[in-house]
Amino acid sequence: MLSVNKEVDFLMDTQAYNATVIGKIMVTPDIMILTIDADEPRVEFEAGQNLLLGLYGYESRSSNSEPELDPAEADKLIKRPYSIASSKTETRQLEFYISQVKSGQLTSRLFKLNIGDRLYVGTKITGIFRLDETPDGSDIVMVATGTGIAPYISFLRSHIVERPESKMVVIQGAAHRWDLGYYSELTFLEKTYANFFYVPTLTDADEKWDGYRVCIEDLLTNEVLQNEFNISPDPERTHFFVSGKPEMVAHVSDWLLEFGYTRHHPDDPGELYIEEF
Ligand SMILES: Cc1cc2nc3c(=O)[nH]c(=O)nc-3n(C[C@H](O)[C@H](O)[C@H](O)COP(=O)(O)OP(=O)(O)OC[C@H]3O[C@@H](n4cnc5c(N)ncnc54)[C@H](O)[C@@H]3O)c2cc1C
Repeated sequence: MLSVNKEVDFLMDTQAYNATVIGKIMVTPDIMILTIDADEPRVEFEAGQNLLLGLYGYESRSSNSEPELDPAEADKLIKRPYSIASSKTETRQLEFYISQVKSGQLTSRLFKLNIGDRLYVGTKITGIFRLDETPDGSDIVMVATGTGIAPYISFLRSHIVERPESKMVVIQGAAHRWDLGYYSELTFLEKTYANFFYVPTLTDADEKWDGYRVCIEDLLTNEVLQNEFNISPDPERTHFFVSGKPEMVAHVSDWLLEFGYTRHHPDDPGELYIEEF
């Protein structure tokens, strides 16, 4: 006989679920790399795009979550967009870099998932935060806090080999060393490709950290890009991607607007690409 919980699960609707968790790496208790295997392949996407992940409200929440600000209804499929970190050629096994909002509806449930569990993965892949819309040969600066690094991992995995003539820089801001997801992959890329530079900067690092210790805004205004890599904030030459916490995105965007940058839109191309989350 089924236990009460099993019986409830059995009766619940799981028909929207169309993918299986095949990888879960906890970077910290509140940051994870989640890999899913979609039942059906998705169309090839462009690096930097996103799709929806979803779970029903009846799914249980992680052990370190906090009470929901807005409790989800049990039969509702909670869906939110997430940037794909995988190479654009990967259409079935997709990787995501996810931060837990402890009082959130979806992330508190995503963090409870284990390998073999099922979830909903959207079929439509969208987004205008795309490296393929920058001109060949332009230098590319990618600025991120938190999970804003995810689209750049897709950019690099998809395009770094094709763009040897572009200087590419990732500036990643965080509090501690352990918050720097993808640190190993990014330092490996820096050693492998002469045109790629990785600039992590930490605001609360311990004494062992010998890198930058300022916030991203100060790193940019202190002219580290010009002095270290001979890259100038010049819209004719350098395209900027800025992704992560809204406050950082606003500060960096305001700084770039002073140099004549305009925000990119497919109908009205610019040199500044913004993604807030
Ligand atoms: C284009 C796009 C791409 C995205 N890609 C990613 C990604 O790659 N990785 C990722 O982790 N997230 C990403 N997000 C954010 C994601 O879609 C969700 O908003 C986030 O995971 C919170 O969902 P939730 O259901 O847990 O919280 P909700 O239930 O929606 O929110 C609960 C409360 O927390 C607040 N809140 C929401 N998000 C945050 C936050 N980040 N920090 C603090 N408070 C917050 C809300 O305002 C609300 O008050 C992306 C968003 C967009 C628009």
